[in-house]
Amino acid sequence: MDLYEYQARDLFAAYDVPVLGGVVASTPEEARAAAEQLGDGLKVVKAQVKTGGRGKAGGVKLAHTPEDAEEKAAAILGMDIKGHTVHKVLIAEGADIAEEYYFSILLDRAERRYLAMASVEGGMEIEQLAVERPEALAKIAVDPIVGIDKAKAEEIVDAAGFKKEIRDQVTDVILKLWDVYAGEDASLVEVNPLVLTPEGKVIALDGKVTIDDNASFRHESHADLVDIQAEDPLELKAKEQNLNYVKLDGEVGIIGNGAGLVMSTLDVVALAGKPHGVKPANFLDIGGGASAEVMANGLDVILGDEQVRSVFVNVFGGITACDEVARGIVGALEVLGDSATKPLVVRLDGNNVEEGRAILAEANHPLVTLMDTMDGAAARAAELAAK
Ligand code: GDP
Ligand code: MN
Repeated sequence: MDLYEYQARDLFAAYDVPVLGGVVASTPEEARAAAEQLGDGLKVVKAQVKTGGRGKAGGVKLAHTPEDAEEKAAAILGMDIKGHTVHKVLIAEGADIAEEYYFSILLDRAERRYLAMASVEGGMEIEQLAVERPEALAKIAVDPIVGIDKAKAEEIVDAAGFKKEIRDQVTDVILKLWDVYAGEDASLVEVNPLVLTPEGKVIALDGKVTIDDNASFRHESHADLVDIQAEDPLELKAKEQNLNYVKLDGEVGIIGNGAGLVMSTLDVVALAGKPHGVKPANFLDIGGGASAEVMANGLDVILGDEQVRSVFVNVFGGITACDEVARGIVGALEVLGDSATKPLVVRLDGNNVEEGRAILAEANHPLVTLMDTMDGAAARAAELAAK
């Protein structure tokens, strides 16, 4: 789960990372009240959306008075930033900026460890810096067993070339950001910009945090960070039914049992779909030993995706019995009745396959096509989606 900037700031504050005060507002009036509450001085009105580049898009504006904050909030609320509608703004105390830096910690999957990145040339888009001047972005591997201790933090600071006067401050901030990363089970903590004020103080002005949802069982408080409004409604529905579902941007719905089989089904459909210009619409693993009900729930979620034009059900019966799956398909189609309009291509194999096929043959539903092979079924599903 990605957090909003204001949520990241709250976490930073809880771990003593230096941040400036801020209040969230949903209306221009609230923004004005927030500015009044924060007291005198410069304010920044910042769009709260889960995407970067808000500054460039006009989603970050300075405000000099509460009236000004109200006006700027009115301009930013409702704005569309890279497909995200702004529902909230953060009214933050403004900082005077002498220098802008960059710092992040992330999960390096390929190397099975963490990676810390730092630059004394922050503020701008870091992807651009990484391409144009890679030498200006220090990348330091972090052993997950050791984490970032004082020596590692100093190594990062020296590699990035932070100047002597702020070496201790930046080291301290990095250690605290590591505490956030490890303490909250994050997979990303990024600060851009980390700024130096003219008075010589280092402050995190922006914050981007991604929480690893697999660790939510040990963080009760993380449930409060979920913004239902910003969640994909299909993923939400799937979560409620304990389905292992990820929405993708294609036309062929996919259901299978076992993550490995579903992954290879995505590959086969992507290949078969290429000439037709269609792609897999989702990942959905109904797991081992899935019942007819789980199958029906899965179909319900996938058919609810407006982009889906055909569905490929690919089941290899092991613990899962093919007749259960077949009953699930027939049952789901019965419940859906006339509202089911999308063709289903079904490939069953393994445990109780004969019974499964017999159930589907007997139901003889006009939307269902039974196929013998995975490749054949993928080709058929892609064709149907392209029609
Ligand atoms: P992003 O564009 O989505 O990454 O949003 P940021 O929070 O990083 O803000 C973009 C830019 O706005 C920063 O790089 C700063 O230059 C500027 N900015 C943000 N907060 C302040 C502030 O408190 N004072 C000043 N003067 N500028 C700020
Ligand atoms: Mn930023």
